[in-house]
Amino acid sequence: MSFIETEEQTALRAAVRSAVESYGDAYNEEHARNGHSMTELWKELGQAGFLGVNIPEEYGGGGAGMYELSLVLEEMSSLGAPLLMMVVSPAICGTIITRYGTQDQKERWLPGFTDGSTVMAFGITEPDAGSNSHNISTVAKREGDEWVLNGRKIYVTGVNNADYVLIVARLVDERSGRLKPAMFVLPRETPGFEYTEIEMDIVESERQYLLFMDDVRLPADALVGGDEAPLAALFAGLNPERIMAAALATGISRYAIGKATSYMKERNVWGQPIAQHQGLAHPLAKCHIEVELAKLMYQKAAFIYDSGDDTAAGEAANMAKYAAAEASIAALDQSIQSLGGAGLSKEYGLAMHLGVARIGRVAPVSREMILNYIGQHSLGLPKSY
Ligand SMILES: Cc1cc2nc3c(=O)[nH]c(=O)nc-3n(C[C@H](O)[C@H](O)[C@H](O)COP(=O)(O)OP(=O)(O)OC[C@H]3O[C@@H](n4cnc5c(N)ncnc54)[C@H](O)[C@@H]3O)c2cc1C
Repeated sequence: MSFIETEEQTALRAAVRSAVESYGDAYNEEHARNGHSMTELWKELGQAGFLGVNIPEEYGGGGAGMYELSLVLEEMSSLGAPLLMMVVSPAICGTIITRYGTQDQKERWLPGFTDGSTVMAFGITEPDAGSNSHNISTVAKREGDEWVLNGRKIYVTGVNNADYVLIVARLVDERSGRLKPAMFVLPRETPGFEYTEIEMDIVESERQYLLFMDDVRLPADALVGGDEAPLAALFAGLNPERIMAAALATGISRYAIGKATSYMKERNVWGQPIAQHQGLAHPLAKCHIEVELAKLMYQKAAFIYDSGDDTAAGEAANMAKYAAAEASIAALDQSIQSLGGAGLSKEYGLAMHLGVARIGRVAPVSREMILNYIGQHSLGLPKSY
């Protein structure tokens, strides 16, 4: 493993920066504040191939891995444009279909993930199951050539922009008679499917939705991976989800620390720049160190994931998501402090990202559930719940 990025990876970072910078801070801010999706930016990223860097070349993608996709999101977020939909559509859904979709499913959806023309949301969380995803009650029953889905989902990101939602449901295993997880691609306009927006108190360009499935009928081939519906297909999406969440948190931290350092060098209230006060410089330096450590961990997770070891990647991806979320909350908080009152003003556009950083402690998996996982799987401690 090299700690030095390749020429291609460095060039990818620069190309993403140049594409996002051309929109400018004002574009990102205006969309986030008004809850409008950054559709134009999404399209441009898709056309440039950035959204599909992880998709195999035979489907029009870049043929690279999660390392490259996560660096795209890190760079975007470092410019104040954290696109949550990148975690969901190309990373979770794109990976699941690439690894477990049937040939027909790959041909149907992967080219669209690559150029951004197909957007897929991902619904697993349920109102009555929450973190306990083993307890989901969305059920799929087979009726002739169709699947019939009933259930509810909550906090599903970006359904308003999605052509499809990848729904995690349960179906009866023919052999054991027990319920097992399975995923279905549900076109958004299917009869029986409804979605309503949940009002959130976060300044972010993506909206969150409550989903209702009431006798939603889907064709047999809506089941991802065919009749075997392996649990592994679901797990395939979880590591990319955590790696991408860590990349987003890393980027948003860089954005905040960058704003704080520029301000501290300029601001002068005692005859010298406030940057000279160690009371400000040290905590910001500490944040920088913690962000760099978290970045290293997500890069390690992506590297292991791309080399094909899902189990080892699981531990690293959970640690990376935890570390990056905690580092970003601290970085946003300290950066706001560095600007004093300006840190909380609209003009400097910093405080609005605190909510985005704060998402990382709850989603896609909460801080506590990661600590449970590490306690149990890394340290061999007993399960507490
Ligand atoms: C902005 C945003 C976007 C999201 N996008 C999506 C999406 O696109 N698709 C999707 O399916 N979901 C999405 N989610 C849902 C997210 O994954 C859940 O909110 C998260 O998994 C926590 O579930 P919950 O909200 O039901 O909390 P709960 O499970 O009710 O947990 C509440 C609190 O209890 C703690 N807790 C629960 N169980 C334990 C335990 N065993 N030990 C210790 N503490 C525990 C939790 O850590 C948390 O602090 C999103 C959420 C947000 C906020």
